[in-house]
Order: sequence, then C-alpha cells, then structure tokens
Amino acid sequence: MDWITQGLLALGSVLLAEVVRDSYHVLAHVWGPLTRIHAIHHKVYNTNLEVLSPELYRKAHWYGDVPEATVLVMFSIAFVFLTQAPGAWLGVAYSTSFWLSGLARANDLLKRTDLNHKSGPLTTPPSPWLVNRTYHWRHHFDDGNAYYSGVFSLVDRVMGTSISLKGKTIAITGASGALGQALMQELLKRKAKVIALTSSDWIAPEGIQVKRWSIGEEQALAELFKGVDILVCNHGLNPHAACDWKDIEAAYAVNTFSVLKLMELFLDTVTTSRAYATKEIWINTSEAEVSPAFSPLYELSKRSLGELITLKRIHAPCVIRKIILGPFKSKLNPLGVMSPAWVAKMVVNLARRDIRNIVVTINPLTYILFPLKECAAYWYYKLLTKPQASRVGDAALTPNSSPAQQERGEEPS
Ligand SMILES: [Zn+2]
Ligand SMILES: [Zn+2]
Repeated sequence: MDWITQGLLALGSVLLAEVVRDSYHVLAHVWGPLTRIHAIHHKVYNTNLEVLSPELYRKAHWYGDVPEATVLVMFSIAFVFLTQAPGAWLGVAYSTSFWLSGLARANDLLKRTDLNHKSGPLTTPPSPWLVNRTYHWRHHFDDGNAYYSGVFSLVDRVMGTSISLKGKTIAITGASGALGQALMQELLKRKAKVIALTSSDWIAPEGIQVKRWSIGEEQALAELFKGVDILVCNHGLNPHAACDWKDIEAAYAVNTFSVLKLMELFLDTVTTSRAYATKEIWINTSEAEVSPAFSPLYELSKRSLGELITLKRIHAPCVIRKIILGPFKSKLNPLGVMSPAWVAKMVVNLARRDIRNIVVTINPLTYILFPLKECAAYWYYKLLTKPQASRVGDAALTPNSSPAQQERGEEPS
C-alpha cells in the first residue's frame, strides 16, 4: 500500500472511532440499561458546565466514558485486522488515549476536563464540522435527544439531529406568503412555537401567534426578538420589469435593508450562553444571488443582501443560514415549478443537518455557481474585515447616516 492509502486509512480509523463513539451515545439515550448509566453524565454539570459533584463526575467516567472508550478500542483493533494497514493503528492509539484519560479522571488522577465540558459562559456560536463547547452544551441544556456528536458533527448531520426545533420560538417574516405558510406548517410539525410576522391582514390558522409589522418599523420588533430563538427572514418584493427610482428604492428597502435591520436587532439579543448556543437567523436570499430570476431589480437587491449577509456572518455571534431557493409557486412567482410545501420540507430537513447554505432549486447551475461565489466572497471579506470590538447596530439602524458619519458625530444629512 502506498503512503496516501495508509494516510487515508489512518484518518478513516479515527473517523470510525468517532462514529462508534457517537453511535454508542445515541444507544445510551434509547437503550434502558445504558440510559441509566449515561444519565449520571447528564447530572454532573450546571448550565455553566461547572461540576456539581466531584463524586458524580468520577462515577460518570467510571461507568460511562471508560466502557465507551473500551468499545472504541475494540472497534479500532477490528479495523486494523480488517485492513491489515499499519496506518489503521492510529485509530487504536486515538481510542486508547480516551480510555486512559477516562480511567485517570475516574480515579481523580487527571483534574483537567475535556474541551467540550470546560466550564464558563459560552461566547461563540456552535461550530459546523468540529464539535465545540457551545455545540455540546445544547445536548445537555437544549435537547438531550439531539446534538449527539462528540468530535465530528457527521453523525448528527446524517441523523438530522444537528438542531432540535422542539419547543423553539421561531418568528418568520413574509408569513402570509406561500412559502411562509408552508414553512410554518413544517416547523409546527417539528413542535416549534411559531410567530407569524406579517404586514397584511392575513388571518393565521390555529396554533400560530401573529405580530403585525411593516417595513421601516423594524425597531418595534426588538423587544419580541429577546424571546425568539430563530428568526426566519422570508419577506420580499418582486418589481418584475419595473425600473424607476421609486421601484429601486422599494426593492432595496424591502429585499435588502429591512432584512439587514432585522438581523442587526436580532444579533443584539445574543448576550447569554443560551442565546449563543440556540439563537439562529435563517435568511431567504434566493438563487437570484447567482442565477437569473428574470426580474433585474429583484436580482440586484437580493444579490446585495446575499453579499452583505456573507460579510456580516463571518463575525456574527450566532448561526446565520442562507436559504437559496429556485422558482417555487407563489404570488410573487405564479409560474414557479416547485411546490412550497416540498421546498419548506427540504429547507427544514437541511437545516436539521446544519447546512448553512440551504440550496433548493431545479437549476443545476446554482449548485455549482453558488458555492464558488460564496467561497470566494467569504475569503475576500474574511481577509479584509476585523471582528468589531463593539457592535454598531444602532448606527446601522439610523436611516440616512453611515456608521462613519456616526463615529464622527455628524448629524444625518
Ligand atoms: Zn456532555
Ligand atoms: Zn447524552
């Protein structure tokens, strides 16, 4: 075997160990005898991940982590025999290190806890591919029947347990539209509490709370956002062939700036550990970001929004997902070919797999062009921007004034 194959098998052996660990964890939540033992681990910490009882901590390692690592070691050894590859011994070494550290913690010989259980308030959002403290915190304090992954998020992504929507308060704009209604039904099926944000006099079906708002009055939603877990920005305006100044103003006001204002207001509410862990924003930017929507002003305003979201989410305190949809049937687009119910189902299923750019379209080009554009824009903006020491949400919310003007103390002109 050449060294590339050996390297791949070495990485594979580590991945296998993690898949076995996460599967064992899932089993520990569904199979009685293991559930009783694993419950000890769930009793060890408070919401700051501080150990409540050193005795329980040792017990959780002795009865939980050590047997789990034993299973990991056994599978890793089996993998070595199966592949006959020296590279696969990496998995054995990797698994054995967890067995030894578990044993040491069980006997009070190792004081330092693992990275997922380091105590202190959370200050970053959950990371996408490698499990961080914020990611795992949700397994303890958001929903024990989700977020099973320990190191790589693969198993949660496959199982659709990367986010739990159960009991989450989800506010959605454009609620009276075809997709808005379909999304709300899909979220209700997932046991979320839904708040419809609408500017029309639409009557909501049972089980949905309605809050009226209108473009330009975003600030009025600030108080409501404190109690919202997920904000879905789904409103939009399609000017079709219109291209006069008033149409340009209206398209950008609705499709670009009202969304950005809502996003800023919502980000200002991300101040607690729970908020860092569970708050999210989903923004429907449309495939007009990269593909024609046969409506120039719609495309221009949605592209601006898409670019600004890419820029803003690099340093955002919570997860921001983009929803990039192709033509679905709605009042904005009566010729749309996809059904809103199917699109909504796909959006929710992909979000539950922690897909941060949710593409649902019939246009194959979007699947190629969007990742290329997004990746290039991400790195360009990441290299040329710095995280802010303090947020400038207030400046962004003042009409007709730039943050630069605000800093200089100028009156908006
Ligand atoms: Zn844990
Ligand atoms: Zn658990």
